[in-house]
Amino acid sequence: MIRIAIQSKGRLNEESLQLLSSIGIDVDSPKRKLVSKSRNYPVEALYLRDDDIPAVVAAGTASLGIVGLNEVVERAAPVEIAARLGFGECRLCLAVPKASDYTGPAWFNGRRIATSYPNILRKYLDDNGLDASVEVITGSVEIAPAVGIADAIMDIVSSGSTLVANGLKEVETLLESEAVLIARKDLPEQEKEILEDLLFRIASEVESRGKKYLMMNLPQASLDEAIRILPAMRSPTVMPLATEGWCSLHSVVDASELWEKVRQIKAIGAEGILVLDVDKIIL
Ligand code: ATP
Ligand code: MG
Repeated sequence: MIRIAIQSKGRLNEESLQLLSSIGIDVDSPKRKLVSKSRNYPVEALYLRDDDIPAVVAAGTASLGIVGLNEVVERAAPVEIAARLGFGECRLCLAVPKASDYTGPAWFNGRRIATSYPNILRKYLDDNGLDASVEVITGSVEIAPAVGIADAIMDIVSSGSTLVANGLKEVETLLESEAVLIARKDLPEQEKEILEDLLFRIASEVESRGKKYLMMNLPQASLDEAIRILPAMRSPTVMPLATEGWCSLHSVVDASELWEKVRQIKAIGAEGILVLDVDKIIL
């Protein structure tokens, strides 16, 4: 049995549970319990505020945790980052009032910066030889300049719309973040084995994200050209069709290039193109 700390509510909760479910691990949602044992895998979920997850894992109360990299770095928690999970993407940025004459980091000298991430901010200031004062605020950091608490802010940004709504502009990025799976150091041997199995499953899930499976009928004469357009993982699967001079070709493509690939293969005579979702890719 391995215990995994998960955010009880908030931006990472749903996707964390979704990730577990997609790798075949069902746990009850935190609406019902604070601790929930999986019925079909040796895992127990412990639901916590995200702020507490790095320390709880560092202390070994939970052996694993799913939390934003930003929280792990801010708290300098002595844990291992076992996997990047590809959701909860955001960045920690410095932002200044839109109308300010910002020309570079030296602008911050002698200024006050409001943030909920004082450790990451102080390190950035030190690394860049800047002398600014750090005002710690735990919520609504983006209103600090408008109400006169600070001259600038350092906060989490994803789309940037909150900054724009508050008359701010993003000027420097301090950290690119996403949800990560963390593990306590010195896991017992039995838990290490469970972690390895989890990592294997997560890798196949992460690998399959944004991938599409393509099947089509193709004139035999266009085969070489089609293989050039659709290289697939090793090479595409090609099967003969009952109709002379035709074959069936199967391949995997990134969803982002799907329509461009479809355009190219249609142009060389592909017909009956089927596009399917890919559930897992096990390499
Ligand atoms: P808790 O109640 O658990 O302390 P919280 O309010 O501190 O929750 P959330 O707002 O739920 O935290 O954000 C959790 C994490 O989601 C952040 O630490 C960050 O890693 C990630 N995240 C992704 N996009 C954003 C965003 N636009 N704003 C805030 N956090 C984001
Ligand atoms: Mg929090």
